[in-house]
Amino acid sequence: MHKRFIGIVLAVIALVVALHGINFDRLGFVSFATSTQQATGNPQTSKPVLVSQVNGVDLTRLPLGDGKISNSPRAGWIWPCRIDSTAGGAFFNGSWIKADGTYDFTAKAVVDGGVTWPHRFKMSLQGNKRIFTTNDLPNHPTGVYPIAQTDDAFLYDRNPNRIAMQNMQVELPANPQLAAQPTCTPGAVGILETGVVLFNALDAPGRDAVAHEAQDACQGHPQESGVYHYHSATTCLPDRTTKDGHSTLIGYSLDGFGIYGRRGEGGRILASADLDACHGHTHAIAWNGKQVSMYHYHATWDFPYTVGCMRGKYKMGDVMVLSGPPPMRDRPGFPPQNFGNPPPRYPQTGDRPGFPPQNFGNPPPPPRHPDLAIAARKLGISERQLREALGPPPPNLGAAASRLGISERMLRDALGVP
Ligand SMILES: [Zn+2]
Ligand SMILES: [Zn+2]
Repeated sequence: MHKRFIGIVLAVIALVVALHGINFDRLGFVSFATSTQQATGNPQTSKPVLVSQVNGVDLTRLPLGDGKISNSPRAGWIWPCRIDSTAGGAFFNGSWIKADGTYDFTAKAVVDGGVTWPHRFKMSLQGNKRIFTTNDLPNHPTGVYPIAQTDDAFLYDRNPNRIAMQNMQVELPANPQLAAQPTCTPGAVGILETGVVLFNALDAPGRDAVAHEAQDACQGHPQESGVYHYHSATTCLPDRTTKDGHSTLIGYSLDGFGIYGRRGEGGRILASADLDACHGHTHAIAWNGKQVSMYHYHATWDFPYTVGCMRGKYKMGDVMVLSGPPPMRDRPGFPPQNFGNPPPRYPQTGDRPGFPPQNFGNPPPPPRHPDLAIAARKLGISERQLREALGPPPPNLGAAASRLGISERMLRDALGVP
């Protein structure tokens, strides 16, 4: 045989092998009726159509995560840094939430719409750092927000927030290391490859956000400062796998570790019970173009969906960046509103990292002069970030702690106030 012919045959074989290595929608169990129409602002139905039973995971009977809140690492639970039991959320339990402690993911009301956005997302590797720049606008259509009164989701959840372009940059370690001890998970836990922020599994009052909150067909919605976010791996990312069936990377946690899709080695659909307390495990994966054995998180269909606690170190400043700016009315320099009146109460605003349960009408706390520079250093953030979190005087420490994703106690300790 002619040498050149053999070369061509080998090239064709290599190509076939390569194409099979990346197996798009391997089993095809998730298919979407997502509209491809790009009519901005024009509400359309784009409900995901899901085959409900996959490898023992029944999407019509997912266990509710409500109450699975721990203050130490615990598999299948979440260890949040902070919850605010006084905050709002979906105000009415949907019919998909069952009395037996499960919910039917396939029957959830979906926020309608096919709104497209000027997505801008860049990720680059520079030495030891992986640098992310994103405007947080997704590369897929979203629902119409605020939720329209004509939307069936409005019956359960009146998210009044609109999606706003952000300007986020974070630098994560490109070669993350395991911390000596896991730590609690902040509200914002990472970024997915759609360019969108990933929050943890809970809504502001600490319930299972995926079960309760009204989300669009890509499982996203905006919080009070307009940050569009998910609480689980969006089904609008294709379910890609590598040769051995393991899911490909779908995003990064703030500690720099990868978040992979819902399939483990051999293509088996993973559940929380297959993973450690932080929702990950260690084995050989493709990382920075090489095959290495290292820790990584996985997405699952069941609670807590993604990161349950943090296995590596992360920076509080990055949490603040991904949480977005404080809502308008709390920003320094913004004319104070409603003094003397009760603060505006929304029937539901989803998670509101910055929502201040403020003491309007009450006397301000006595003046104190904590050293902000020292406090900021203790918290691992810049003094400016701390000032922004504290907002205009008088400071509301509860709201500031919420913005920082820490407990009020931690903030008070850093500031040296009782
Ligand atoms: Zn894995
Ligand atoms: Zn949310």
